[in-house]
Amino acid sequence: MAFAPFEKVALIGLGLIGSSLSHVMRREKLATSISGHARSAATRERAMELGLADTMHEHAADAVRDADLVVLCVPVGACGPVAEAISKALKPGAIVTDVGSVKSAVIREVSPHIPGNVHFVPGHPIAGTEYSGPDSGFASLFENRWCILTPLGGTDADVTARLTAFWKACGSNVDIMDADHHDRVLSITSHLPQLIAFNIVTTAADLEEVTQQEVIKYSAGGFRDFTRLAASDPTMWRDVYLNNKQAVLELLGRFSEDMSALQRAIRWGDGDMLFDTFTRARGIRQRIIEAGQDTDEPDFGRGSQHSETTAPADGRD
Ligand code: NAP
Repeated sequence: MAFAPFEKVALIGLGLIGSSLSHVMRREKLATSISGHARSAATRERAMELGLADTMHEHAADAVRDADLVVLCVPVGACGPVAEAISKALKPGAIVTDVGSVKSAVIREVSPHIPGNVHFVPGHPIAGTEYSGPDSGFASLFENRWCILTPLGGTDADVTARLTAFWKACGSNVDIMDADHHDRVLSITSHLPQLIAFNIVTTAADLEEVTQQEVIKYSAGGFRDFTRLAASDPTMWRDVYLNNKQAVLELLGRFSEDMSALQRAIRWGDGDMLFDTFTRARGIRQRIIEAGQDTDEPDFGRGSQHSETTAPADGRD
């Protein structure tokens, strides 16, 4: 479906995702005007300086008035309270969506506040970096990345198609799936890797001081790849684990069993088991590259990045 621009889009939250959406909407002319809201005056001022919105509002309700599309770009735990705050100001026929990394909890918290004459289609762009705030966004963040929409039963197919066309115009590929399935898929592709990163970096930080210096000095051995994930916004990730508890806990059980099997193989010198496991794991990397979801340059292309003038490498949720 060719995309017809929205008249007015409201971005609630102007951090990494909200500001990236603004940049790409400006570049592709996807909205006639953009209004915005962020919690702090500092972010609202910075958003105006950067031209991320035509108007910024202290109250979210003022930002959504007359908006045809409202995108909640706030941490998962803030989606419910924000939906409550904007509920009465939403324009009849408007589409409300979100970008939260967890879907079932957002649906549970937001749906009760969406009036009957307003459409709610939850979404999640699988694109990100470890940076946050209004300065961190860039127009190409969503390019060739997947955006998952999890429409509720009974959603008008035309509305889902309109939002699909919007994300495609932002450069994304779009998949539609059930919210519970989304949460299970993301628990393994995003939430568990992130938790492992937070854990390994914390373990290293708790080592005695001399060793810690060595951890930093020799981090190119692998550790530094975890630190990129661990540098992510703590509020966002706290909310992810509080709101995708079941899927993450189930997966952690499985992960611990597999880790114990590796531990046992190391203890008993079972080289065949280790070799077979690592060979299977290696194949996954090749498939990610073939799917266009990462660069095939050695060391993630670091060797060619002598100047830091490019946007940060993405690929995180
Ligand atoms: P971010 O850079 O930290 O920005 C969050 C924005 O939300 C800020 O503008 C913040 O305002 C605002 N905000 C926070 N709490 C609020 C509240 N209670 N009321 C109103 N505004 C509030 O976060 P982000 O990375 O863009 O993430 C936003 C959403 O996208 C999250 O739900 C996250 O799960 C999802 N997501 C993130 C990524 C990623 O890689 N980062 C990828 C995909 C999806 P202040 O600046 O004034 O505090």
